[in-house]
Amino acid sequence: MTGPGSKLRTLAIANQKGGVGKTTTAINLGTALAAIGERVLVIDLDPQGNASTGLGVPPEARDRTMYDALVGAVSLAEAAVQTAIPGLCVVPANSDLVGLEADLSGDASRAYKLRDAVAVLAAQAETRPADQSFRYVLIDCPPSLNILTLNALAAADAVLVPVQCEFFALEGISQLKDTIEQIRATLNPSLEIQGVVLTMHDARTTLSREVAQEVRGFFGSKVYESVIPRNTRVAEAPSHGKPILLYDYDCAGSQAYIRLATEIIERERQTKAA
Ligand code: ATP
Ligand code: MG
Repeated sequence: MTGPGSKLRTLAIANQKGGVGKTTTAINLGTALAAIGERVLVIDLDPQGNASTGLGVPPEARDRTMYDALVGAVSLAEAAVQTAIPGLCVVPANSDLVGLEADLSGDASRAYKLRDAVAVLAAQAETRPADQSFRYVLIDCPPSLNILTLNALAAADAVLVPVQCEFFALEGISQLKDTIEQIRATLNPSLEIQGVVLTMHDARTTLSREVAQEVRGFFGSKVYESVIPRNTRVAEAPSHGKPILLYDYDCAGSQAYIRLATEIIERERQTKAA
């Protein structure tokens, strides 16, 4: 049950490898969690702004952005835009974020800007009714290890790692594991891996099956049972500014993201009970 006293959970969707399904997962997992009844804030932390576009916020509608929130000009709640999905908001991003590193260069707490902003939402989750606060924050990270990703990993309770079922999938992963260890030793001692999600899986190819097996061998039970299939509807949806669940609820991609959301909620329950 959610309600006053609920804990906010902040998940960073990260993998410095490009094009593995981070943004697609942020959009569609966010939608699926909201469809299940959780209140979700997606934070677009990529200057490309793909999560903003995919959630229906075009560049001209991005008045207050993640840049404004990270420099402290607005709160996340003030910058949040309601999407077409009840219970799902997004803080949009644009290319302003490119300049953040330089703008914060002299600031000793530059890696903690997002953590401090999220702390305000966490306090609200504990005191306000469930319909006036967020239960999940999902951070869509850029494909690099810059100040933006550091802010995400410093702010997050846990990391969700999308891995594309293709050759070289594991290449970036051991690097990401090292990064998470470094962050635990420095910025955020309690950072965990929530789980690893296999994306763009094609059950017809041996390669997809082999990569899936290899990733499960490496990460064991951290890998979710739910696998996201390669599905053209999933790739089409963002150009209509819609999550896949709104674009085509019945397709295999939508159903996979609903299963993933259910699995994540279950894993969160177990974490809490442990
Ligand atoms: P970047 O590192 O550039 O931020 P990313 O990790 O966020 O990329 P996405 O943008 O989510 O990756 O996905 C990369 C491409 O793959 C996009 O064109 C997207 O539409 C497509 N894609 C993602 N998931 C699927 C899927 N399940 N089926 C088919 N296409 C997909
Ligand atoms: Mg992306």
